[in-house]
Amino acid sequence: MNDSKVLEVEDLTIDYIILGGTIKAVRNISFSINEGEVVCLVGESGSGKSTIGLAIARALPENAIIRKGKIIFKGRNILDEKSKNKNVDGIMIVFQDPAASLNPLFTVGEVISDVIRCHLAIEDQSKIKEKALEMFRIVDLPDPERIFNSYPHELSGGMLQRVVIAISLSTNPKLLIADEPTTMLDVTLQAQIIELLSNLKKKLGLSMLFITHNLGVATEIGDRIIVMYGGEIVEEAGSEELISNPLHPYTKGLLECIPRAHIKYSRLKHIPGSIPDLRNPAIGCIFSDRCSWVMDKCRIVKPPLREYVRDHKVACHLYVEDE
Ligand code: ATP
Ligand code: SF4
Repeated sequence: MNDSKVLEVEDLTIDYIILGGTIKAVRNISFSINEGEVVCLVGESGSGKSTIGLAIARALPENAIIRKGKIIFKGRNILDEKSKNKNVDGIMIVFQDPAASLNPLFTVGEVISDVIRCHLAIEDQSKIKEKALEMFRIVDLPDPERIFNSYPHELSGGMLQRVVIAISLSTNPKLLIADEPTTMLDVTLQAQIIELLSNLKKKLGLSMLFITHNLGVATEIGDRIIVMYGGEIVEEAGSEELISNPLHPYTKGLLECIPRAHIKYSRLKHIPGSIPDLRNPAIGCIFSDRCSWVMDKCRIVKPPLREYVRDHKVACHLYVEDE
């Protein structure tokens, strides 16, 4: 693995077993995250983003089966570990609902102290508290002492998300996965959390996989954006490049739906048609049922994800020159 790469995902393919069938949630996904880089996974609901995040954090539900692929972190394939759900030292995940990540019976001080004790092997209670307060300051929480003694229900949603981020960062992770961390917050708080994560990235050199259905948020925080559709990657480029030169008809559709002036916090607008049935995904292009440029071969042959211009990959027959 290249030294500057924190994570490499190779050919990851994951199914969910459901009553009477199989959901082919994620198929042949490959990408990497460089040291200090924020990579955003963007796509509509059901495109497979969370499944990828959970696989990397080794927190997939019981009915998930990893059919093939590798997730290489710190030079080893973490999927080789025997146990299906085994915390990976150095990877932390922050979810959409911070309250669900915290036990309501414990103060947030007790929770973060426990994490610091386990991960950093610090035993001295005053040192643990010192570290906890430092983490609360890093995430710009006002009055850290009060926060330390608060129960989750005594804090607002925005504060709780900062607490959860502080707890995650207290373990000194090499990679933070943020799965829709702003979705449950109002627009002002969303902007604040995005700004916080951007600052932390700069301050701590944090590498991050940021999962969102919101292309505007992705352009705000992401160095690179990976656009997913129906369990597959359809386009990948640097944020600026993706916005100024979208190639895939799906990405173009998404961008055309968002007025430039309002790109920051606009949701992905609905493109005509519905998301594919992942019990039986198309043999050819996964977007063919909704694409205005569809050709006969699109329905038969799957377009490979290829670099079309430098550092800009797209999976679409419109860009395969030798065909
Ligand atoms: P969302 O933003 O709604 O979470 P997503 O892009 O993160 O969407 P996933 O949650 O990864 O997508 O879901 C991918 C597909 O797998 C969807 O069709 C979803 O319904 C299905 N799926 C997710 N979890 C399970 C599960 N535990 N059992 C069965 N199917 C599942
Ligand atoms: Fe559209 Fe064909 Fe490109 Fe798919 S491969 S996005 S159907 S033109």
